[in-house]
Amino acid sequence: MALKALDIYKLLPKKNCKECGDPTCLTFAMKLAGGKADVDLCPYLDDQAKSVLGATTRPPIRLVRVGVGERFFKIGEETVLYRHEKTFYHPPGIVFRLKDTQTEEEIAAVTRRVRDETFTRVGTDLRFNGVAIENTSGSAEKFAWAVATVEKQQAHLPPVLIAQDPAALAAALVHCGTYRPLLHAAIAENFRDMCALAKRHGCPLVVRAPTLDGLVQLVKDCTAEGVQDLMLDPAPENLGAFIRRSTQIRQLAITRSLPELGYPVYLDATATGLEDAALVLGIVKYASVIVTSPLEAGPAKASLTLRQNIYTDPQKPIQMNPGLYRVGNPGKDAPVLMTVNFSLTFFTLEGYLEASRIPCYMLIVDTEGLSVLTAVAAGKLNETLVRDSLQKFDVGNEVMHRKLIIPGYASPLSGRIEEATGWKVLVGPRDAAEIGEFLHEVWKKQV
Ligand code: SF4
Repeated sequence: MALKALDIYKLLPKKNCKECGDPTCLTFAMKLAGGKADVDLCPYLDDQAKSVLGATTRPPIRLVRVGVGERFFKIGEETVLYRHEKTFYHPPGIVFRLKDTQTEEEIAAVTRRVRDETFTRVGTDLRFNGVAIENTSGSAEKFAWAVATVEKQQAHLPPVLIAQDPAALAAALVHCGTYRPLLHAAIAENFRDMCALAKRHGCPLVVRAPTLDGLVQLVKDCTAEGVQDLMLDPAPENLGAFIRRSTQIRQLAITRSLPELGYPVYLDATATGLEDAALVLGIVKYASVIVTSPLEAGPAKASLTLRQNIYTDPQKPIQMNPGLYRVGNPGKDAPVLMTVNFSLTFFTLEGYLEASRIPCYMLIVDTEGLSVLTAVAAGKLNETLVRDSLQKFDVGNEVMHRKLIIPGYASPLSGRIEEATGWKVLVGPRDAAEIGEFLHEVWKKQV
């Protein structure tokens, strides 16, 4: 059971010494309760308090890192069953499956695609995470060759190595350096050898069993061998079995009823018989690494979009970075349009501005992602913010004029913005769809 902030506070030393980085023990307790601080930050806790607090305040699902360098990814550390309760933190790594029986060209082409392909949506670059190489040939040499072929592409992608035979994994790991690939999989028959490999190369390890009891036993065995970074493969015989088992695992982990299940879940979508559906449901239902066949362009974008949506904090609007953005190639006499950093507002306005074919500047001010109407009502959009943003982003040096177009819903601020900035304010339309007409009819008369 998770402790409340006041229960945690009772266990703290109450010195208010600030050494944990918080001004008081109470604020530290509140952070611990929210899973936003580590109990080790307080140096004055006795062992008993540490063990009670550590067990109840650490995220119930272990954080695991796959790979190293620019393309590494984190999984786990989730704290809720349903996204609307809080948020899901670490999106699943989606990796494309390769077999060591494929040709060099095929392996290289898929690897390069994962290395290079980026899809930008609402200001974020979306990418697939890596490749999973399977030892389907049964030959350790062939497997090592396939892994070396992936590494030759200089992709720096975190690989997943899939083999039943520890000797094949050992041969392949020679080509991975210290790259921390994910090893799949330890089973009852081979876990000691797999653990030895995982420890020697510092790799996370998947444990695989078709029952929860089997997974719990393997987790106990592998942690006793000294491997802590584990993932759970519930070895589903079909998609329904995956959903049932992954939901049970998540429930038992989140409620801390069975701490041995507090690890991220692995899904091989290609083995479910319904690969496309498995990819979608895996993203929604708690998979943290999903192995899939290389996707066509349409499903690729759809899956990355779904993942972005599910792993966006529902309590925080998607925001743009404040700044001065160019639409087209604006000159010194181009209009400057101020608006908020709510990304939906940004992209809607940007689309209509592009359609108007009038090059311009967009001055995006930081309203913490609130829309114009809400930001005005909440006092987040005000003359001081506009003045400071004009100065911070050096707008006066970009244009010769001193005219600022503000959104129609910000019209109550027009007088105060003029006074605070010295810029003449033009009140634009309320509806972004009318901005093209406004620029052609109102702005052109101003210049
Ligand atoms: S370091 Fe410990 S005793 Fe000091 S303020 Fe933080 S919680 Fe309190």
